[in-house]
Amino acid sequence: MSYFRVNENCNGCLSCVENCPASALSYGDRDNRRTLQHNMTKCARCGQCWRICPQEAIEFQHLLVGQWDDVVTLDLVRCRVCGEPLYSMLYQQKVVSKANTNTEPLCPQHRQRQAASMWPLSRPVRTRSKSGDK
Ligand code: SF4
Ligand code: SF4
Repeated sequence: MSYFRVNENCNGCLSCVENCPASALSYGDRDNRRTLQHNMTKCARCGQCWRICPQEAIEFQHLLVGQWDDVVTLDLVRCRVCGEPLYSMLYQQKVVSKANTNTEPLCPQHRQRQAASMWPLSRPVRTRSKSGDK
């Protein structure tokens, strides 16, 4: 889906193409069809096309807001206790093969709890008085 969108009023007059200061608009004629084209990497979002279009066909708000495009979707590893998403399966495989260790999938909170449970329950605590006595 393009960031540059027109509504059904566009009649292909090409005024936008001819007046774009950044040459971000173009068109292609093929098999008796004309296609309006837009290049986001060139577009300065200046709004000139929107101002000049005689048909009020350009829906400029999409150019200003943009959108998030999905790039890749990977399997997730989740905390085995609470299910919080941690990292991708592929990332885990890479880390495990590099570190040559198999770490348990735990979120920071549950990793901390697990570490705490492995310490002895009562450890002597050394205190020092204000006067510096030991
Ligand atoms: S100026 Fe408007 S009507 Fe003409 S081609 Fe561009 S978007 Fe379509
Ligand atoms: S916003 Fe400006 S730079 Fe982008 S296509 Fe329209 S006229 Fe060209």
